[in-house]
Amino acid sequence: MAEITLTFPDGAKKSFEEGVKPIEVAESIAKSLAKKSVSAKLNGSYVGMQDAMTESGDFSLITKGEDEALQILRHSAAHLLAQAMRRLPKFANVHFGVGPAIENGFYYDTDNGAGNQVSVEDFAEIEAMMKKIVKEDLPILSHEISRDEALETFKDDPYKIELINDLPEGEKITVAVQGEHVELDRGGLVPSTGWIKHFKLVSVAGSYWRGDSSKNVMQRVYGTAFWDAKDLEEDLQRRAEAKERDHRNIGRDLDLFFTSQKVGSGLPVWLPNGATIRRQVERYIVDKELANDYLHVYTPVLSNLNLYKTSGHWDHYREDMFPPMDMGDGEFLELRPMNCPSHISVYQHKPRSYRDLPLRIAELGMMHRYEKSGALTGLSRVREMTLNDGHTFVAPDQLEEEFKSILKMTMDVYKDFDITDYRFRLSYRDPENTEKYFDDDEMWEKSQAQLKRAMDDMGLDYFEAPGEAAFYGPKLDIQTKTALGGEETLSTIQLDFLLPERFDLTYVGEDGQDNHRPVMLHRGIVGTMERFTAYLIEIYKGAFPTWLAPLQVQIIPVNAEAHGSYAKKIQKDLADAGLRAHIDNRSAKMGYLIRDAQTKKVPYTLVLGDSEQADGTVTVRRYGQQETEAMPAADFKQLVLADVARYSRP
Ligand code: ATP
Ligand code: ZN
Repeated sequence: MAEITLTFPDGAKKSFEEGVKPIEVAESIAKSLAKKSVSAKLNGSYVGMQDAMTESGDFSLITKGEDEALQILRHSAAHLLAQAMRRLPKFANVHFGVGPAIENGFYYDTDNGAGNQVSVEDFAEIEAMMKKIVKEDLPILSHEISRDEALETFKDDPYKIELINDLPEGEKITVAVQGEHVELDRGGLVPSTGWIKHFKLVSVAGSYWRGDSSKNVMQRVYGTAFWDAKDLEEDLQRRAEAKERDHRNIGRDLDLFFTSQKVGSGLPVWLPNGATIRRQVERYIVDKELANDYLHVYTPVLSNLNLYKTSGHWDHYREDMFPPMDMGDGEFLELRPMNCPSHISVYQHKPRSYRDLPLRIAELGMMHRYEKSGALTGLSRVREMTLNDGHTFVAPDQLEEEFKSILKMTMDVYKDFDITDYRFRLSYRDPENTEKYFDDDEMWEKSQAQLKRAMDDMGLDYFEAPGEAAFYGPKLDIQTKTALGGEETLSTIQLDFLLPERFDLTYVGEDGQDNHRPVMLHRGIVGTMERFTAYLIEIYKGAFPTWLAPLQVQIIPVNAEAHGSYAKKIQKDLADAGLRAHIDNRSAKMGYLIRDAQTKKVPYTLVLGDSEQADGTVTVRRYGQQETEAMPAADFKQLVLADVARYSRP
């Protein structure tokens, strides 16, 4: 009998009879190893534990505990899902696309025909069938087949046929078989269905076949799987919390905003409650900036396209811009994707002297970016956004000082909003792909080094990200996490030597010459109103601090008739002091109205009855607390005013 020689990861070599299976190799080493081996690799390709090996080469076992083993489990769970769906009459004719393991689980793209889509309501039934197949403990075996056999096997699966036809001529085609179910598959699967014990289907979302929006819409069923019940439990818990925190869900529950196809993708509508939060943020940040010597302006969202040709946006940023509007009279207008050129026009409006610098121009500037439809998310990634934008023009030797003071101001603002979980990213140009950026190696080297030095001076930790710079210069980005687990830029400070060149900006120096070139800093402290509000919703889970809360005080008269005018008096007094108070006049049970105020996360709820009316007091209940406290109405007003005083200027 012929022999093969296997070379182990530590370099040891051992010979076996041809046809030996990985499980036998593992057993020859140790029983315990065999028990925890999930799959194996021979010369870089997967071999199942029960598959015969016929060639010599590098061999390794993949054991539970390794990341790759978890991928294998989840990949196997995707097959299990497909098999279970096919066994259910409702999904007997479902067509499958691809079904890989992903970072936090797995998915399978399914197409069950329009009008008969899989929904979360089907999950229990599908999971029950998956469990049944697990009990059957079907061996999972892989083998090679010819192209013709493959085309025959998958003749009723149009997506699989497309995949097969796309495989290059001569490419090995393998299938994985478990019971009646056959998958087109490269391997990397557990030995039998009995290994997949702890799994759960979590969601379903639309997807395009091969991610291509011109192709069929499919339904992507997401699930996850773990080796231990406890890990699965924890993961599901985390997912539930993330869902609860997701700004899109809270936005709907608290009536903050909506987006709809009717209005247009990525174009959110701010409802009164959301608008109140935004207005508070806007007032706060504008006041803060005015106190820090910023000059606030209003500039048009629409500008002559030439402005963006001069700035370089048209050359370097065009794919993120809306198409220009041909006005028919030779003028082309463009919805601005950034406010920088507008603020540059403010700088240029007058001759500038060194005495004017740093010159700080700011605006809540609305801009439009043509984000890909697949990337649009609630308020956090939109197509129309209002940036808390600012551009400061400095003499070159003021650059580092200005950078540091912007960063310090940003940190002060973060404190006021209780933002603590973030990291600093130094975004550089991509050295492999320099044509995306303004072409001046020396400028890039110099400004990237300057940015780094400023951060080091301030003793701040950061990470470096090549390829994340703006086309005109490097930037400091402040990265925060979203409920969905992604990371997004909240604030940004960017160095720019380029735009002052392109717009030929000058100032009169101490020498009296009007030929000195300023440097620009672009900065967004709270970023866009959209993304910042999304972020606030998620960190506060909808329970806004009093100064931001859409409604600050909910007033509940015990009896609308008897206590209505007292309630009105209290409400007016609070409103006159600039507070947001509302009387809940609905004729429902007191308990219901109090609960409802809690559900809406109103910071203070007042109950007003006979004794309150007689004594001029209010009975206060704070959000999230069970106890109530009675106090004179005037004291309550002072309490709420003190609560918000830190954030608003008279
Ligand atoms: P991203 O990498 O997130 O697309 P960017 O690097 O293009 O952002 P900048 O040009 O630095 O963004 O934009 C300034 C600020 O605008 C960012 O700090 C971010 O908070 C915000 N922002 C950018 N794009 C969007 C968007 N599509 N929706 C909402 N806010 C956005
Ligand atoms: Zn700018």
